[in-house]
Amino acid sequence: MNEILTLVIATSNPGKIVEIRDLLDGFPVNIKNLDDFGPIPPVEEDGDTFDDNAYKKASFVSKILGLPALADDSGLVVDALGGAPGVYSARYAGENATDEQRYTKLLSEMKGKTNRKAAFECVLSIAVPPGPALTYEASCEGLIAEQPVGESGFGYDPVFYYPPLEKTFGQLTREEKSRVSHRGKALQELREEFDKVLTWLEQNMPIQERHGCQHEKH
Ligand code: IMP
Repeated sequence: MNEILTLVIATSNPGKIVEIRDLLDGFPVNIKNLDDFGPIPPVEEDGDTFDDNAYKKASFVSKILGLPALADDSGLVVDALGGAPGVYSARYAGENATDEQRYTKLLSEMKGKTNRKAAFECVLSIAVPPGPALTYEASCEGLIAEQPVGESGFGYDPVFYYPPLEKTFGQLTREEKSRVSHRGKALQELREEFDKVLTWLEQNMPIQERHGCQHEKH
């Protein structure tokens, strides 16, 4: 029988790690976090799209560690702000801002706006060291609330109102959020064909890494 494959979650965002681990629970794969490997240089997320950044993160980590890596790039796209914060969602209020500072800035930009439509978007990229990658993407539509409600989740969750459940994402349990969220839906697609993904990973890993052999470099 084949050895269990290792898949590295290429993100240091604790909120994302929890959601991704939950959804891949039960699959025959050894999930590792970046923390398991010691310091890894940060990737510059300078792509114009979620797709570019997801691939950049996954392929960078995969090449450095010689293991398959799964990265998520996601963000909030707001109609009335011409699609902002979009790929800049994490840096919307500056590099070291807190989630609260980011959503407070968003609420102030949205003051007086009647069109409150927004969508969370997520692209997942699974890359192997030689370069190829698989991509999954999904979005979730909602409205920007007038004020933050709820303390669950992370990021913009307290200000993202989801009409079908009449709650913000900040009021949902992890399971409720994962059933409907951008990341939950993208991961669900990945789950549905995870057996095929595992075969693809096996076939696309370089031979020595596929079998877990470590050759000394001279
Ligand atoms: P990045 O993908 O690491 O560039 O960061 C995406 C940013 O988008 C996060 O730091 C959050 O601010 C926001 N974001 C992405 N997904 C979610 C979510 O599920 N809930 C709330 N905010 C999110």
